[in-house]
Amino acid sequence: MTIVKHILYAQVVCVANVLPWVLEMKPLLLIIIYLGAVTLPLVLSALVGGPPREWHQELASGLGILAFSMILMEFILSGRFKVISNGVGMDVTMRFHQIMARTALVFALVHPFLYQGTPSGGPRPWDPTRQLTLSTDVSALLSGIGAFLLLPTLVLLAIGRTQLDYKYETWRLMHGVGALLIALLLLHHTAYGGRYGSEPVMTWFWLAMTGVAVGSLLMVYLLVPLRQRAHPWRVASVSHLTPRQWELIVEPEGHRGLDYKAGQFVWLNVGHTPFSMKENPFSISSAPATGPKLSFMIKELGDFTRTIGQIKAGTAAYLDGPYGNLSVDGRTEPGVALIAGGVGLSPLLGILRQMRLTDDPRKVKLIYGNRVIDQIAYRDELDEEDVVYVLSEPPETWRGETGFIDGGLIDRVFSEEEFREWVFVMCGPAIMMDVVEDQLVKRGTPGHRILSERFQYD
Ligand SMILES: Cc1cc2nc3c(=O)[nH]c(=O)nc-3n(C[C@H](O)[C@H](O)[C@H](O)COP(=O)(O)OP(=O)(O)OC[C@H]3O[C@@H](n4cnc5c(N)ncnc54)[C@H](O)[C@@H]3O)c2cc1C
Repeated sequence: MTIVKHILYAQVVCVANVLPWVLEMKPLLLIIIYLGAVTLPLVLSALVGGPPREWHQELASGLGILAFSMILMEFILSGRFKVISNGVGMDVTMRFHQIMARTALVFALVHPFLYQGTPSGGPRPWDPTRQLTLSTDVSALLSGIGAFLLLPTLVLLAIGRTQLDYKYETWRLMHGVGALLIALLLLHHTAYGGRYGSEPVMTWFWLAMTGVAVGSLLMVYLLVPLRQRAHPWRVASVSHLTPRQWELIVEPEGHRGLDYKAGQFVWLNVGHTPFSMKENPFSISSAPATGPKLSFMIKELGDFTRTIGQIKAGTAAYLDGPYGNLSVDGRTEPGVALIAGGVGLSPLLGILRQMRLTDDPRKVKLIYGNRVIDQIAYRDELDEEDVVYVLSEPPETWRGETGFIDGGLIDRVFSEEEFREWVFVMCGPAIMMDVVEDQLVKRGTPGHRILSERFQYD
């Protein structure tokens, strides 16, 4: 018991000391902190101890404990915590969230089956052969069974979201409420049915960890909107860029605006209360050096983006951000290579504009791919730059590059030295980024010089 208290105390001291660093955090450090957080309950449970049991029963409890702590950490990995998503990037955060959810699911589903052959406990009508469970407390098991059924449902609904025909906002609400329910069911199951979780110190520990997870939801859905309400924005203009792309400009109302880096993105809510779920992520295409107004380049895709043209100047808007780490600020490479596909130009335009406005001495080249000529946005502005336009369906009169952005094309644009020494920043369709990244690695560009942002991560 005393050892456990000491460990908890050391943990608090450690977090307090590490936090300032965390703000400048690097991926390896994040991984270490993640591993520490998910394994801490396991270590504490081992220290709490108990009468000896067979190894498979310990394994069963261990997997259950790990699954629960990983599920609680999923709340923190939701992408809305800048300390994490600005440290490693939003797509890496969301990919990690998905992989850990699936791993926790496997652990959670396997764990009850490992208890088989339990030697103790009274009669259990739901499990007469005593193959599955240790506890005789029906309510503790029912909460576990509830979570056991809900968890795969939640994961499957997330995996199949794009195939299922319901609104993104509906899915998001269901995902949040479902996750909250699972966390509460697991807390009950662990405290009343778990061999270790029923020890008072562990019950308090799990309560605290669940409190942090639930608190993170409150932060996203209550505190952040309250802060947004105190810092409102208003739509300054909406204009057509190309047949299916728009430029939306917002300006701060009564405050100094957003402190951001070129290439970052925000969650944008136009025309709804800040407590609404109707917010979408968009990269900022303006540069911090332009001033407090923010501009967005938005492509029509679904229910919100198809109505951009109907938004009137003066409409209230709320922003949450900035997020993401697609930034070349403070980098020491001699040149910046920007590779955009379609609306993926948006964050790269922000970077390009910032470099121009601040007389950045680094060289910059842009490859901008589109399907047809009408989709090329900001042509007048881009013609001033070292830009290579690429069209996959060019008109007969087209004299520029054709096809997709591939190995042959990047070889025509960049020298061997540039491949090795420049930083490459990409944004566009997933297939384009996968191909280009592969080709860059083959040409000797180190991984830390390839930055990318995905517009579709879940
Ligand atoms: C980091 C990031 C930056 C982006 N930047 C831009 C940009 O600069 N310009 C641009 O045109 N598009 C951008 N997108 C894509 C943009 O967010 C979606 O096209 C937009 O949200 C679609 O909303 P909708 O209501 O019109 O369509 P829907 O039919 O509701 O959604 C279509 C798809 O868009 C995604 N989506 C919708 N709402 C959200 C949401 N709240 N959060 C996350 N994903 C959502 C989902 O994958 C959904 O399946 C970005 C996406 C991300 C993740």
